[in-house]
Amino acid sequence: MKNNLICVLIGAPGAGKGTQAKSVANYYNCKLISTGDILRENVENRTLLGLEAKKYIDNGNLAPAQIVVSMIKNVVKSFVENKAGADKSLLFDGFPRDLEQNKLFEQILDELNLSIKGVIYINIDDDIVYERLTNRRICPKCNRVYHLKFNPPKFDNLCDDCKVKLITREDDKIDVIKKRLEVYKKLTYPLIEYYRKKNKVVEINGNKSADDVLKDIIAGINCAK
Ligand code: ADP
Ligand code: ADP
Ligand code: ZN
Repeated sequence: MKNNLICVLIGAPGAGKGTQAKSVANYYNCKLISTGDILRENVENRTLLGLEAKKYIDNGNLAPAQIVVSMIKNVVKSFVENKAGADKSLLFDGFPRDLEQNKLFEQILDELNLSIKGVIYINIDDDIVYERLTNRRICPKCNRVYHLKFNPPKFDNLCDDCKVKLITREDDKIDVIKKRLEVYKKLTYPLIEYYRKKNKVVEINGNKSADDVLKDIIAGINCAK
C-alpha cells in the first residue's frame, strides 16, 4: 500500500512530542525519526558526531544544521531506497528545527518525490513545560520516557522494560530548559508560521492528558490526509 504519509511533530521542549511520536507512528505504522534520540545515542556511544553535538545539547542550543541534516538525509534515503513500491510513511520528531533545516529538508523530500502532509503543532503553556521537564526521567538503555507524577515506572526509579535505573537528562536542568524554550521561540516557532501559510498546520492543545492529545492528533491527521 502506498500511503506515503509524511508528518512532522513540532512543539516546545516537553510538549509531549516523543511520547506522542511513538503512539502515532505505531497507529499509522510509519517509521519514526527522532533527531533528539539519534543525537543522544551518538553522545552515549561517543561517536565523532555525538562528541560534536554534545557541546550544543548540554547548553540548550541547536546542533549545527549541517550535522543534523546530513544525518537525516542518510536515514531517509536508505529507508526510501529499501521501500521501492511500498509505503514510505515517515514521522519526524524534533526535525526540522529552524527555517534553515527546513529548506534543506524540503529539498531532500523533493529529490525523493515526497512531500509533507501535515505539521502537528503541540501547543503547551510555558509553566507546563517546566513541570513536565523537571519530572521527566528516561531509561538510558531503551530511551523510554517516564514522568514522576503522570507516567511513573512501576517500581521505584526502574525502567518497566529493562529494570535499569532511570536517569534525568543532562539538559533537563532549569537553566538549560529556559535556554531551550528561548531557542524554540526564536528559531523553531517561525516554522509554524511558515507552514500555517501553506495550510499544513494541525494545532493540538498539548495541555491535556496524553491519551486525549493522542486522540486529537489522530483526528487532526485524518482530516489533513
Ligand atoms: P518532548 O519530546 O516534547 O520533549 P516528552 O514526550 O518527552 O516531550 O514529554 C515530556 C515529559 O512529560 C515526559 O516526562 C512525559 O512522560 C510527560 N508527558 C508527555 N505528555 C504528557 C501529557 N499529555 N500529560 C502529562 N505528562 C506528559
Ligand atoms: P526537546 O524537544 O525536549 O527539547 P529533543 O530530544 O528534541 O528534546 O532535543 C534535545 C536537544 O537535541 C536539543 O536541545 C538540541 O540541542 C538537539 N537537537 C534535537 N533535534 C535537533 C535538530 N533537528 N537540530 C539541531 N539540534 C537538535
Ligand atoms: Zn528501558
